[in-house]
Amino acid sequence: MTTATRSTAEWQSADSRHFLHPFTDFKGLAKKGARIIERAENIYLWDSEGHKILDAMSGLWCVNVGYGQQSLIDAATRQMQELPFYNAFFQTATPPAIELAEVLAEISPPQFQHVFFTSSGSEGNDTVVRMVRRYWDVLGQPARQIIIGRNNGYHGSTMAGASLGGMSGMHAQGGLPIPNISHIEQPHWFELGGTQSREEFGITAARWLEDKILALGPERVAAFIGEPVQGAGGVIVPPSTYWPEIQRICDKYGVLLVSDEVICGFGRTGNWFGCETLGSKPDLMTFAKGVSSGYIPLGGVMVGERVAKVLIEQGGEFNHGFTYSGHPTACAVALANIKLLREQDVVRKVREDLGPYLAQRFAELNEHPLVGETQSCGMMAAVQLVKDKAARQCFDGALEVGMMCRAHCFANGLIMRAVGDRMIVAPPLVMTRAQIDEMMALIKRCLDLTLAQLKELGQL
Ligand code: PMP
Repeated sequence: MTTATRSTAEWQSADSRHFLHPFTDFKGLAKKGARIIERAENIYLWDSEGHKILDAMSGLWCVNVGYGQQSLIDAATRQMQELPFYNAFFQTATPPAIELAEVLAEISPPQFQHVFFTSSGSEGNDTVVRMVRRYWDVLGQPARQIIIGRNNGYHGSTMAGASLGGMSGMHAQGGLPIPNISHIEQPHWFELGGTQSREEFGITAARWLEDKILALGPERVAAFIGEPVQGAGGVIVPPSTYWPEIQRICDKYGVLLVSDEVICGFGRTGNWFGCETLGSKPDLMTFAKGVSSGYIPLGGVMVGERVAKVLIEQGGEFNHGFTYSGHPTACAVALANIKLLREQDVVRKVREDLGPYLAQRFAELNEHPLVGETQSCGMMAAVQLVKDKAARQCFDGALEVGMMCRAHCFANGLIMRAVGDRMIVAPPLVMTRAQIDEMMALIKRCLDLTLAQLKELGQL
């Protein structure tokens, strides 16, 4: 049977009988039926009912070059014909994996000359945990076991990834976090900043790391991990003072700094990596998503010289790796993706043109009665929906205002994500200004519809 021959109802029925979706209430979805996405081009998707949808989330923060890029498709086809797979265990390597490692070293900050490949961001962060602890073992400081993450941070859904993250709902299932993971509060000025200016609050929030290191004992702390801009947590852009102060604190106590670049990497913030935009000099960087624009699963860890030197010169065997570490087809697609980003000067355009334009257009939303704050960084942005702007008062959570707004987005041909009452976008980096205008018109319309609905419900 060819896929195009089934109706939406038939797809939904087969889906609910057999497919358990990630982060989903299975019973609820079975009642409602999944939305079936059948094809895509540039920044648009089409569902099985023929609706055209503007994908303001780049799939899941990953399709940075948009859909239908022929050079990526050709790279996969060519590599599959030549050598679809070979492993990198047993002292072997393939040309695409070697070339991609070379290119990643070129585009990363200068301290990064080595890479460890995985197939996803979660596996990348599992690798970070193993590697960081191994580093301190080799250095003769095995007590340095603890990795500090942040509440409302997201680092994936494997046992280690979910543990590093600070999502309480995830910790509640499966006995997480694993031992020797600790968390501090997030740098979320809107929620936690009180009467401090953003900049003052950035220092306060970074000092929570110092307090935690001192409370645990610096001799027990291995590393700190954070996303330059929290993505899944709600596109929370920290104050400009935050990351430089985090860097100072990590340096002071010799703690390794890990930048989770799974969302921020590959141009999203207007530089190749988010740490360059937000001002830190990490020892390790996790990446995935944008490395291959999501056309094929690929992830990994960039390993800075401080760690690489110890592992290479003194380490012996590192007992860690995956069947698909350095998968040649995935690496070939990533090479084509990075080539495209370079040839079209995408990262500079995000920094100098599209990012500032998106910021300007989002700032205009502050006029809207429902909007308490807007934030943006490169090609990611958030709108915080509030009951009372001046008092920074949020709606009752039970109202699920974010979900209300998201339903209007769906109905109006826009994919925008709701994180609580924060509406977020991370559109493809190859958008035009006209497409940003088109997206903003849809966002504005959906905010108006949400406002009208709240008034009808007597909530405003
Ligand atoms: N880290 C961050 C910052 C992420 O946003 C994600 C995924 N959204 C991950 C790690 C996990 O990546 P994956 O889903 O590919 O395992």
